[in-house]
Amino acid sequence: MRIIRAAKVLTGRPGEVIENGEILIDGPRIVSVGPRGSAGEAGEVLDLPGHTVLPGLVDAHVHLGFDPQVDPVTRRSAESDAHLLLRMAENARKLVSAGVTTARDLGARGFLDLALRDAVEEGLAVGPHIVAATRPITITGGHCWYMGGEADDEAAIRRVARENLRAGADCLKVMASGGQMTPGAPPSWVPQYGTEQLRAVVEEAATRGKGVAAHAHAHAAIRSAVEAGVTTIEHCTFFTPSGHRYDPKLVELVAASGTYVCPTVHGVFDRLRRVHGEETLDAWLSGVARMREAGVRQIAGTDAGFAVGEVANPTDGYVGGLEVFAMAGYRNAEIIELATVLAADACGVGEVAGSLDPGKRADLIAVAGDPLERIADLRNLSLVLVSGRSVTQAGVDTTTLSVG
Ligand SMILES: [Zn+2]
Repeated sequence: MRIIRAAKVLTGRPGEVIENGEILIDGPRIVSVGPRGSAGEAGEVLDLPGHTVLPGLVDAHVHLGFDPQVDPVTRRSAESDAHLLLRMAENARKLVSAGVTTARDLGARGFLDLALRDAVEEGLAVGPHIVAATRPITITGGHCWYMGGEADDEAAIRRVARENLRAGADCLKVMASGGQMTPGAPPSWVPQYGTEQLRAVVEEAATRGKGVAAHAHAHAAIRSAVEAGVTTIEHCTFFTPSGHRYDPKLVELVAASGTYVCPTVHGVFDRLRRVHGEETLDAWLSGVARMREAGVRQIAGTDAGFAVGEVANPTDGYVGGLEVFAMAGYRNAEIIELATVLAADACGVGEVAGSLDPGKRADLIAVAGDPLERIADLRNLSLVLVSGRSVTQAGVDTTTLSVG
């Protein structure tokens, strides 16, 4: 048994802050959380004055297999699965070094995300717990087709979904609209599937108690995704052929359905703003803030690995993404909530992660300072525990926090 004491403990339950708190941990699990003295005696005590302890951060949208330096399509033939798996392991290490203890990987080829997920659980690799979507379901030649999940009609969609689940996927990912990164694929504002096809994905996932993440830029694809009952909508940018057009009526529908939206907010926002123009990026960010005001449940996810318009989006820029929410007027307590408890719930792991509660995994971080006062204090990591195991640096300095 181990006790961790800190000046402040944020449990992850809305608004709950324990001054001079302590957490009792037994192996991989949390036993108790309370004020100093509540845990009794333990063999090991870690005292962290001046620190805040909070649930480990959750990145609801990553691609560990992507590297902004390498084109994913051409790499398909050039890089072996064995080499790519090592790259994914290094990206996982960077991510956990930034305080992310759960990551949902929303698209990898060759079921490599499952191999990495299992290796992390066995202690063979250093990384966050991985919630793996495996091959995204997409139309032939559609967005991210090169990951191996092509399916056009309902029977084929069910087939790919079932194969993913048979392999051990934790959730399903479907490309409800086109995107920006696949040469020759439909652009973002074009839907790839209709409501009935998306519903087939939701039904297949439900047979195993799993959720569905729908990549949806296109206005029509967002509507279909909500109607089909997906768990999370990724991006949700309201693209039309004539650009980004926020639709309050559709947002009402999203809010009423309770569907989570992961707007994929990342730390390269400032650079994108310089490269692609302030107007476009500010309009997008104000759309994100308006969704929040309309009552849409939002979660933190970075789309790490995916270069955005040739601007690299590195794996360790997670806190930079949270700072963008702060720029858009979100309160720090709210940002921490969407980065922990809400994101864990949306990823289907709310029962075991996302808050510091007895019985849950001991996934937590300690930072010097107080992120309720300054969100940037989340960068001052002193401790990262993943299921009670502390993450120590391998001595290779490839971790650079990305700002702007
Ligand atoms: Zn993505």
